[in-house]
Amino acid sequence: MFRRTVRILAALTMAAAATLVTTVTTAAPAQADGCYTWGRTLSEGMTGEDVRQLQIRVAGYPGYNAVLVIDGVFGPATRAAVVRFQQAYGLGADGIAGQQTFNRIYALQDDDCTPVNFSYAELNNCNSTWAGGAVSAATARFNALVNMWKLQAMRHALGDQPIRVTSAFRSHACNDAVGGSPSSRHLYGDAVDLGVSPHSLCRLAQQARNHGWREILGPGYPGHSDHTHVAHDPIRTWSASSCGVS
Ligand SMILES: [Zn+2]
Repeated sequence: MFRRTVRILAALTMAAAATLVTTVTTAAPAQADGCYTWGRTLSEGMTGEDVRQLQIRVAGYPGYNAVLVIDGVFGPATRAAVVRFQQAYGLGADGIAGQQTFNRIYALQDDDCTPVNFSYAELNNCNSTWAGGAVSAATARFNALVNMWKLQAMRHALGDQPIRVTSAFRSHACNDAVGGSPSSRHLYGDAVDLGVSPHSLCRLAQQARNHGWREILGPGYPGHSDHTHVAHDPIRTWSASSCGVS
């Protein structure tokens, strides 16, 4: 009798768990996301703020040695980035952003629109305002957001193991304090320094070539023996000679 009760309880618990799983996987995502909810399927040729929001999320999928322009215009490069994102997550890779793609993005983003594994605080250990750099606070913060989505893409490509950020946005004061270059991309909020472990600095520098950074500095470049630096420099600068990155 007791055993039978336990068995029934176990069955009930499993049923409840199954119900929960069903609820989670089939819950309508529309209007459900705390950050941003897409209201239409997006494909090549479309324009708008929703396209721009999509571009931010797939900025880490531009392909080797490329940068995705975030302009609200769904062109061939955006389509290719969506395809790479879909492939990375095992979705049907048709380059059209529909419910499956949006659901994956909803699962990847926090309510403040940062990807789940990175945060504004992590990208700014200089101040809390994002002010005092080479661009407005809003621009610096936005650049950091795009960088976080690039980092999330790289993190996934590297087996979903952590990536350690050691320094990112710096005001002029913070940059001077650490002896940064007067023209450092850290002043723009679009540079991130990555520390060793679990990935080697070379592994990070090499993988970064696929995720939308025009500036990669690592082992072999002066002053970069203890971190790999990635940024969105207007001028392409890849230099990590000890890693075969140039
Ligand atoms: Zn740096």
